[in-house]
Amino acid sequence: MSDPRPLPARPRTLRTADELVRAGLVTQDRAEALGKVAERYAVAITPALADLIGEDIAADPIARQFIPDERELDTAPEELTDPIGDEAFSPVKGLVHRYPDRVLLTPILHCPVYCRFCFRREKVGGEEAVLAEADIAAALDYIRAHQEVWEVILTGGDPLMLPAAKLKALLLALDAIPHVESIRIHSRIPVGDPERIGPALLDALAAPAKPVWLAVHCNHPAELSPLAEAALRKLSSAGVPLLGQSVLLKGVNDDPDTLAALMKALVKNKVKPYYLHHPDLAPGTGHFRLSVEEGRALVKGLRGRISGLCQPTYVLDIPGGHGKSPLTADYVDGDQVRDWKGVSHGYKAE
Ligand code: SF4
Repeated sequence: MSDPRPLPARPRTLRTADELVRAGLVTQDRAEALGKVAERYAVAITPALADLIGEDIAADPIARQFIPDERELDTAPEELTDPIGDEAFSPVKGLVHRYPDRVLLTPILHCPVYCRFCFRREKVGGEEAVLAEADIAAALDYIRAHQEVWEVILTGGDPLMLPAAKLKALLLALDAIPHVESIRIHSRIPVGDPERIGPALLDALAAPAKPVWLAVHCNHPAELSPLAEAALRKLSSAGVPLLGQSVLLKGVNDDPDTLAALMKALVKNKVKPYYLHHPDLAPGTGHFRLSVEEGRALVKGLRGRISGLCQPTYVLDIPGGHGKSPLTADYVDGDQVRDWKGVSHGYKAE
């Protein structure tokens, strides 16, 4: 006989300044200013992430990533509404074709949580955030017509916010295009709303015969809660290859110990660190940015300190749509090669 007790109501995602006040995450005197921030940029903090925020909220790395901040209303002159230049390379709605062999497809611009440093913050979370069927069909037609497209990257927003049946249909449509040999999805859900990783989603991800890689956005080891780790276990057990993508953020992970712990925690969860992004010039995000030189020094410090398996590629998306470039330190100077401690050694190939 089934248990007649109703399931407890699932706590709600926090979306307004007043809800943040009621949850004890911000003080009442900030409500008006943060209300203005929320009018401009979407806010969402899932119960899974809210539960991870510690008592010292101002210093908490989860709070800093997701609780809105008054400084977001200050746009610096160098900041851009389209910081990585998607628009210039978008031949059809929802699709970006920047590099010859791959395209980005953004089927949905909703996310489980809204990161305060988001590079697409001007686009995500709006009312018209789901790509219409006709636009998806046009994007698929574009991919079919471009034989050079080897990889399709579903991004957003968060593609795992699509209903599982819709995601499965899209993945199968891509699977049926002979020249598309790799599908990649970028998602915040395994850490942002891990309980969404259930049978229907796993079934959708496993449906294509071609590999569907999942790049998991995670910036601090504290995000890898027991719930998130369980979600990652489900994904890896279902045969989904997992990559890590992180953003280097001032006040969140810009110290060697945190970065090392993050990369090791990802590998421990069968997630291969892939990209560490230098923060983009998104509007109102100056408080998260450090200099490229500071970033390079931090990343250089990881070399030798942690396993090669834990090393991400530190990249910058060049503003204007010029694509990603590695910012990694240069180890070669003529016939001298520097080791991880900075000591040079001669090397001459015969
Ligand atoms: S999950 Fe990605 S797209 Fe969504 S708010 Fe965060 S950075 Fe932006």
